[in-house]
Amino acid sequence: MLNQNLARRDLNVLWHPCTQMKDHESLPMIPIKKGEGVWLYDYEGKRYLDAISSWWVNLFGHANPKINAAIKAQLDQLEHVIFAGFSHEGAIVLAERLAKLTGLDRCFYADNGSSAVEVALKMSFQYWQNLGQIQKIKFLHLENSYHGETLGALSVGDLGLYKKTFSPLLPATLSLPLSLTAEAIDQFFSKHHHELSALIVEPMVQCVGQMNIYSADYLKLLYDACKRYNVHFIADEIAVGFGRTGKMFACEYAQIIPDFMCLSKGLTGGYLPLSCVLTRESIYSAFYDTFESGKGFLHSHSYCGNPLAIAAALATLDIFETENILEKNKLLSTHLANCLENLKNDPNIFNIRQLGLIAAFDMIDNQNRRGLKVYQYALQHEMLIRPIAHTIYFMPPYVISTDEITQMVNVAERAVLHASVIPSKHSNNVLLGKTAKTSSPFKI
Ligand SMILES: *Cc1c(COP(=O)(O)O)cnc(C)c1O
Repeated sequence: MLNQNLARRDLNVLWHPCTQMKDHESLPMIPIKKGEGVWLYDYEGKRYLDAISSWWVNLFGHANPKINAAIKAQLDQLEHVIFAGFSHEGAIVLAERLAKLTGLDRCFYADNGSSAVEVALKMSFQYWQNLGQIQKIKFLHLENSYHGETLGALSVGDLGLYKKTFSPLLPATLSLPLSLTAEAIDQFFSKHHHELSALIVEPMVQCVGQMNIYSADYLKLLYDACKRYNVHFIADEIAVGFGRTGKMFACEYAQIIPDFMCLSKGLTGGYLPLSCVLTRESIYSAFYDTFESGKGFLHSHSYCGNPLAIAAALATLDIFETENILEKNKLLSTHLANCLENLKNDPNIFNIRQLGLIAAFDMIDNQNRRGLKVYQYALQHEMLIRPIAHTIYFMPPYVISTDEITQMVNVAERAVLHASVIPSKHSNNVLLGKTAKTSSPFKI
């Protein structure tokens, strides 16, 4: 009853993100009372394994004792301070540690992923203005990209679902296919580089773009083209950073150091909103001049450098350092690979792909909102998985056990079978076994 009462009050007053609220006429809202490790508990004691890390933010479980302690200690010291003219030790230490981890020099704090993308775009843009190269005003993104939902971030996204309604508001951008040859990439850059400020990419995995995994070779080709043609390279590691792909940062697969790196989501272990943009000293220098020069970067958010969020981020990095996380995750991703192997003969499952602890497969399509059926079936079996259209994916917290991984994949497979049973009125749509699905050459 407690669940229902809260759900009713919620639907009376709240407007939830990325949701057609009318769906909740049939879909129950689930109030969560507490979290512990990979598990979420509702008000009636029912539990859900958080197989998607609560929208890809959580790394070391809910209510992690070390991160909890770090935030509590910080809370009694300083909750927040203006970050212009004032500073604090945590902000300095985190910037030092992130610089060391990424090979970059300067850290600018913001408070969510989209705002970090805005910062990187504006910094790149203003860099060229400061240098007098005023024609370099356009941004290039990849086909199938996603970089957040504020207007600037939306402009470098390529997913109609998010973008279509707002397209009249967005600055024009250029889009680069995911399957060009080295020659074609070069041709594109030779034609457009004079007007290009930056290329923005999600390194290795386009997560919102249905977990599309592409090759390190392609990432390197794009990076090299940017270097050759004097175009900034922005790596949006908001989803893939902090070990998700098996490396600390996905750029490491191509052994590249971007001009700008955007971090958020796992940055605080999934605790508090924080993001940052890391960049090179040479870019910072182009802004460093007298006040009268007008070259300063005049961008701010009220909660820039929030000490509580930074305490969570420092505790998160401590866990990486002291608990050998990347090594341990290899065992988990091998186990995940073995579980996925068992799905290969399932006639309802296509395009199985994995990189580190990100894994996905496709259903034949999303007719009759099959994805929603998968979501509901999984919930009834203690599992939170949230398909993106006809893609089922896993992005679990790193504290998941191998048994829980087995359980996660099993429930997903049964959920797909359940969702693939076509109601008789649609019997002309009967699945005919594995049909050829379009698949990008870079999916593995
Ligand atoms: C989630 C995400 C963003 C946006 O971050 P928010 O904090 O949700 O604004 C940007 N880029 C990528 C790759 C993301 O996955």
